[in-house]
Amino acid sequence: MPMSEIHEQLDHSLTSKDPVTPDFVLSHPVRYVKGVGARIAALLAKLDIHTVEDLLFSFPYRYEDRRNLHQIAELPEDGFVTVQGVVKNVDLTTTPRKRFRILQILIEDRSGWITAKWFNQAYLKKVFQAGQKVILSGKVKRGPFNHAIEMENPEYEILMEGDEETIHTNRIVPIYHTTAGLTQRRIRTILYHLLESHLSEVEECLPEEIITTYHLPERRDSVFNLHFPGTDVTVEVLNAGRSRYHKRMIFEEFLFLQMLLAMHRKGRSEAVRGISFQVNTSAEKDLIQNLSFPLTSAQKRVISEIKRDMGRPIQMSRLLQGDVGCGKTVVAAVTAGIAMENGYQVAVMAPTEILAEQLYFHFHGFFDMLGKKTALLSRLVRVKEKEKLRKKIRQGEIDVVVGTQALIQKEVAFQKLGLVIIDEQHRFGVIQRSTLMQKGRVPDLLVMTATPIPRSLSLTVYGDLDISVIDEMPSGRSPVKTEIIRGKERQKVYRHIDREIREGRQAFIVYPLIEETEKSDLAAAKEMSEHLAREIFPHRSVGLLHGRMRPDEKEKIMEAFKQKALQILVATTVVEVGIDVPNATVMLIEHAERFGLAQLHQLRGRVGRAGYPSTCYLAASGRMTEEASRRLSIMKKTSNGFEIAEEDLAIRGPGEFFGKRQSGMPDLRMGNIIRDIRILEAARKEAFSRVGQDPLLQNPENQRLISEIRRRYAEKSELIRVG
Ligand code: ADP
Ligand code: MG
Repeated sequence: MPMSEIHEQLDHSLTSKDPVTPDFVLSHPVRYVKGVGARIAALLAKLDIHTVEDLLFSFPYRYEDRRNLHQIAELPEDGFVTVQGVVKNVDLTTTPRKRFRILQILIEDRSGWITAKWFNQAYLKKVFQAGQKVILSGKVKRGPFNHAIEMENPEYEILMEGDEETIHTNRIVPIYHTTAGLTQRRIRTILYHLLESHLSEVEECLPEEIITTYHLPERRDSVFNLHFPGTDVTVEVLNAGRSRYHKRMIFEEFLFLQMLLAMHRKGRSEAVRGISFQVNTSAEKDLIQNLSFPLTSAQKRVISEIKRDMGRPIQMSRLLQGDVGCGKTVVAAVTAGIAMENGYQVAVMAPTEILAEQLYFHFHGFFDMLGKKTALLSRLVRVKEKEKLRKKIRQGEIDVVVGTQALIQKEVAFQKLGLVIIDEQHRFGVIQRSTLMQKGRVPDLLVMTATPIPRSLSLTVYGDLDISVIDEMPSGRSPVKTEIIRGKERQKVYRHIDREIREGRQAFIVYPLIEETEKSDLAAAKEMSEHLAREIFPHRSVGLLHGRMRPDEKEKIMEAFKQKALQILVATTVVEVGIDVPNATVMLIEHAERFGLAQLHQLRGRVGRAGYPSTCYLAASGRMTEEASRRLSIMKKTSNGFEIAEEDLAIRGPGEFFGKRQSGMPDLRMGNIIRDIRILEAARKEAFSRVGQDPLLQNPENQRLISEIRRRYAEKSELIRVG
């Protein structure tokens, strides 16, 4: 029988008053639901609602208390309101020059009247008719004339004669995300009847013990109350997502996510036998002895955490985070030294040529001393030499290979890869990470990032990695003073730069290139550097560095700046990562309003690296958005990378924080990792302790959990493996 006929039969059987089909299950297509035909199903699909379960768990995004609506005459002068009245007049006008078509209606209740208008939605003329009872929700504001108040683009709902009072009025009413052609009333009615008939199929998925420990309401109760709240909650609590029913569903969501992470981690540590390194090596001692400084206690702690992992026969997966300049490179070198001393090769991957070169330079210095061979695999290496180099790597003649993404090409093979180090990891995707890992048998992994990761994310996105944090700066660093400047103050900054240069210091001036291909931006940066060289600093040497230069040209400029042949480096964002010139003490960031917080923080980290008092000027030009000025004032307020990251996350939201594609951010329907961090932490603790005691969740008390995990993730098992 063709699918369409099956659907029709089912539609028929459901719309007729037949008893509920016994095999009605949550995973069925949403068309099985009463009141959902082909048209509605197509609309629901647009909302990403495909199954009965999707629909049941599509909770309202806000609620309206329609029990005591304001009388129109008593509306507050501004703010979000809901009013109910009768349509008196519908009027479609076009503004002169036909820029806008405005539909305006006038509604009235016993106390007065109010107008509402919509722009460029002429079809609404067919929707509204005089005499209808409507509900409008939106912001009110004083109109320009006669002091009447009006609403612009409010949400509307048309009430019908004989409406079921229990669903659409006289209660706290749910408001759903919807799409053109699907009214609130329709979606609400469908859900109401679906709950009436099929709520009983929603099964409890949490063990009794968890429910009592955390005082959670039952699942069915929660689902029902989230759609159609009773009198035990206020609309404010609901709209803040803080009702006990919200909390229950958020806890549940986090718990299953954390169970997955916990099982993943447990699986990795138990199923996969990793290399058990001999960790007390002379390499470590030699390296540390030859440093011109003592390690900070944070560096020491982190090294011992890494050694503990390396010594055990499990595969290390450790994320090392630490602010710019905290000294991660030495830690990486010690880690690499241990692996080499054990006869293994090490691969070190960095996101840009410049960074790779710099790491190579450092490692080369460290390891020559130990009699180990370090090589750089980069674009700079000529094709013929590259082939030779690859051969050496394959035959194990090279101990450490530093490179960019070039490392993951399939021509690159190792003889005995035992450790993978990845720097600045958020620039790489999970795939690149694991491609490199697969070049060894079960190599240990150390991921380093200078982007401080807020706790909320380290518990979710990176929830399966062990985390080490360097939370201490080497001594002798003075905090960088940050100033926001505008227009005329630039002269003052130039004078400051000149004074510093006279003292033997150096300065960065950074220009934004939002897109490296944006010609006008690049032209502006070039022009500015010429202007600075010719007019402002004719007696100083000024260099320009930008992303479109050839690698060897870049190299030359960088080297000149390092050697102090250049005193001022005008640069586009390429200095953002990696450049280490401790002698620089001033950082002037032009168009600072165009940079994100993470970038600003990275840039500022380029100065203040050697104990000289340093300054970062944030030059804001042009009009600033509210968000931009919030960013700049955060920069002025704090230099703590974690605080900045938390703020950044709060401003941009989790999805944007790392960039969508690479974020690996789990889809959360209910929970918000920032707002609900407490619940997240509780759920994580519970999940990890359960998986710790019962890794495969075989014990009777975990029965519900494991069957729910199977049900939820049956088709998404890659989620369990990705890491
Ligand atoms: P990042 O964590 O940003 O990669 P680096 O490893 O590049 O930081 O270190 C920044 C600078 O600090 C380097 O010049 C490095 O030699 C120096 N450094 C590292 N550890 C210490 C320490 N314990 N004491 C003093 N200076 C240190
Ligand atoms: Mg670094």
